[in-house]
Amino acid sequence: KAAGRATFCFFKAEMNLEVQARRQIELDLRVALAEGEFHLLYQPQVNLTSGRITGCEALLRWNHPVRGPVPPSEFIPIAEEAGLIPAIGDWALRRACHEAAGWRSDVKIAVNMSPAQFKNPNLPHNVVLALAASGLPAERLELEITESLLLQDNDTTMATLHRMRELGVGIALDDFGTGYSSLSYLRRFPFDKIKIDQTFVREMTTDADCMSIIQSVIDLAHTLRMKTTGEGVETMQQKDSLQVAGCTDAQGFYFFRPMSGKQIADLLAAGANRETAA
Ligand code: C2E
Ligand code: MG
Ligand code: MG
Ligand code: MG
Repeated sequence: KAAGRATFCFFKAEMNLEVQARRQIELDLRVALAEGEFHLLYQPQVNLTSGRITGCEALLRWNHPVRGPVPPSEFIPIAEEAGLIPAIGDWALRRACHEAAGWRSDVKIAVNMSPAQFKNPNLPHNVVLALAASGLPAERLELEITESLLLQDNDTTMATLHRMRELGVGIALDDFGTGYSSLSYLRRFPFDKIKIDQTFVREMTTDADCMSIIQSVIDLAHTLRMKTTGEGVETMQQKDSLQVAGCTDAQGFYFFRPMSGKQIADLLAAGANRETAA
């Protein structure tokens, strides 16, 4: 009984530590924007036929003054729960549009959207403002949303998707295959692009079933006139398999790691999006 009690106390203490750590991150997140602790990295997306860079995905980074870099997988869920995503997400949107407008290139800029941000009826207004302030043409902006957003049939979400379409802003369905993938989503809204999640790409060259699933998704997307991007491509074999399967674009460490705004600007100015390297 004594041991059980001790274990319980230990467990409780650990729980408290975890709760405290989360609470501290939340408090720190509340000042991070004002303190300029966020920045964006950009990861190029490459067309598998031409080898050209067709777009870049903006990836949020938080440099904590004491803890150092905190990965988005750790702080975004906390920011979402604490209601901080509208502000942080809007900052990322404006920052990405502003930086991309300065590139000597017409590649697209893809910005990740949290469900909370996308369900906000002010989003279309914020997008219009971000485009106007930066001078970025709407056609160069692409918003990445996940299946979880579509889980609840929400009127605001559908209205926003259609409003983006009217503006000329692209919509990509991110991490496809990891959520509650439903074919009815693909019927309800004409996405511009489906991003095949990296968990599938990782296994495609060793697991025949996985390859079949990817092939089906690519064929389906093609039939629905949607592009496909393979995520997390790390090897030439994965790149080749995606190309043979008819995937239009790919993104991953095999091509480029996420890089700073300065690095991507230089890369594009050097004409990397004009090279034929496939
Ligand atoms: P995501 O949108 O699926 O982004 C792709 C993630 O895969 C990025 O992780 C990227 O660095 C990583 N990645 C790219 N190529 C490779 C590869 O070849 N191998 C491996 N192992 N990983 C690769 P990151 O930057 O840590 O971002 C994680 C997630 O955080 C993103 O997943 C996205 O859901 C979220 N996120 C990032 N920035 C934002 C943002 O501004 N707003 C919101 N709401 N979410 C964001
Ligand atoms: Mg993404
Ligand atoms: Mg993804
Ligand atoms: Mg992912």
